[in-house]
Amino acid sequence: MKNRPVNEMKLVLPSLPENEAVARGCVSQFVSRADPTLTELADIRCAVSEAMTNCVVHAYKNEPGPVYINARLYDNGRFTVQITDKGCGIPDVALAMTPLYTTDRGGERSGMGFALMQTFSDGLKVSSKVGGGTRVFMEKHLKRQT
Ligand code: ATP
Ligand code: MG
Repeated sequence: MKNRPVNEMKLVLPSLPENEAVARGCVSQFVSRADPTLTELADIRCAVSEAMTNCVVHAYKNEPGPVYINARLYDNGRFTVQITDKGCGIPDVALAMTPLYTTDRGGERSGMGFALMQTFSDGLKVSSKVGGGTRVFMEKHLKRQT
């Protein structure tokens, strides 16, 4: 059985552009208590930003909807964060996760969000249901923990 988290944060934010910074800041503050290295903190901030941005840009097309953020710290230095929306969902997750793949037609997006989440975490799992929403689960093993 997996051990229980020593600390946990649950946050619900509407998918507004200004909440990208709120999500990043809250998760950053939460994980800071575990004394991460600056690199680890920067990695987590970037990964959370990418996931939250996807909720803002892709998940809810017409009006903002809820984004559920659940961050957990375990006593062995394991940190996990799950970012869930109830938006449009992704028809082909494997394709969506391919570097440079984007459905954006405006030319603003580079299709690198999932690739960055992969690079900046020690594990990324994405599950999605068309019309049901998307869940992004990331974990990171903090080295400084005793
Ligand atoms: P970038 O992140 O570089 O600005 P991007 O958002 O298009 O560009 P990814 O973050 O890798 O690239 O996402 C790839 C594609 O997956 C998106 O173009 C979009 O079609 C889909 N997608 C990602 N997240 C979601 C989501 N939460 N809900 C619905 N579709 C999503
Ligand atoms: Mg993206």
